[in-house]
Amino acid sequence: MLIANQGITVQKYGGSSLSSPEKICRVARKIAGLRSTGRPVVVVVSATGNTTSELVGRAKRVSSTPSRRELDMLLSSGERVSMALLAMAIQEEGREAISLTGPQSGIVTDSTHANATIREVRPDRVLRELDAGRVVIVAGYQGASPEGEVTTLGRGGSDTTAVALAGALEAEVCEIYSDVDGVYTADPRNVENVRHLSRVDSAVMTEYARRGAGVLHAPCLDLARREGIAVRAGATFGGDARTWISCGAELEYTGLDEGGSPRIAGVASRGRCIRVHATRGGARSRGAIVEALRRHNVVPESLRPDDDRVDVLIGTEEAPDAEGLLADIRRRLDGVAVVSDSLASVSVVASKHGDRDELADRVDDVLRRVGADTFSRHDRPLSITRSVAAEQRLPAILALHEALVESHAAVLAAR
Ligand code: ADP
Ligand code: ASP
Ligand code: MG
Repeated sequence: MLIANQGITVQKYGGSSLSSPEKICRVARKIAGLRSTGRPVVVVVSATGNTTSELVGRAKRVSSTPSRRELDMLLSSGERVSMALLAMAIQEEGREAISLTGPQSGIVTDSTHANATIREVRPDRVLRELDAGRVVIVAGYQGASPEGEVTTLGRGGSDTTAVALAGALEAEVCEIYSDVDGVYTADPRNVENVRHLSRVDSAVMTEYARRGAGVLHAPCLDLARREGIAVRAGATFGGDARTWISCGAELEYTGLDEGGSPRIAGVASRGRCIRVHATRGGARSRGAIVEALRRHNVVPESLRPDDDRVDVLIGTEEAPDAEGLLADIRRRLDGVAVVSDSLASVSVVASKHGDRDELADRVDDVLRRVGADTFSRHDRPLSITRSVAAEQRLPAILALHEALVESHAAVLAAR
């Protein structure tokens, strides 16, 4: 009889946690320790270190426009190396373990190479292996289309594999481990005085990830919300700090001061964006832009059906082939839209509560003060985004964080 689904632990380890044989062995010891408590364990892994980027580089050395299908075949191999090495290391610890590719684990996606969406998870094989007492190691970031073609889920996609499996295995929590002990008010690599967030609402976190907080893959948060799974983000090695991401979780941090301002989750940024800006309004230019982007599997989320004005900003990380997209839309949209690719975006992501217009004014004030010219404005219910010149990105992040997060912390402390 198959084991009861309740009580299955689903963990995901990112590439930086597996970047050397020593780290793989440390992760294996951690998993073997957990397994010794009797809990069934499923572990999703990413490619080691920078493997995925190196594989993209290798493809570009043999072809300037690599076929998306072959690129998926190539890139999916990175996670397969990790899964086999981790399974061996766990076996070395005296525990039974088996590695499975995405398709073997029953991850069924649509047919969109390089940016596929998980449609279904058929966990029978995983459950059989758990039932046989094995730790199951799953290659993240990949699946197979209904036609049996290997697909990948977009950069950072292993997080989404983990949440999808947690959903299919009816786990209540999905544990995501990386080199950072949770979510902060900005990327700790850019900003010194970041504040740790111990809980974040999943809709707010989805927005934070979409606007560039690279700590989690945005689609995994959408999925977690739909499946009612809490995501716990923490560091692989050391440190007990964690961030819980779940539906309805209130930020314990109050963000801006009184007066009904929204609570700030943080400042996010995307280093390189493509801006497509219609030179004339109307349904025809709008249709041409949407069609050109869709050909590249990019969904222009900032377009609203009733909005005649077309001005979209796409992070190059969201586009499976940013250079191809750029060349193609420049050609197709000549005379319809201005296409620029030298911009960065900075965003302030906030909770649902409070006055968003007031927050937008504050963001504009800060950017003006720091001398960062704003090229376009893209406001959404949970975020205020401005495109700025690439060289203004870091000063803008620092100034926004200082004004909207750090100075408020000082106000709180003084009370
Ligand atoms: P993994 O390879 O384990 O998936 P990632 O590199 O994708 O890990 O994510 C962890 C990184 O996310 C951290 O090293 C950190 O620099 C970055 N990061 C960006 N924004 C944030 C944020 N707001 N909070 C925490 N980490 C962030
Ligand atoms: N290895 C893939 C990447 O680097 C997927 C992941 O890390 O989640 O994007
Ligand atoms: Mg990641």
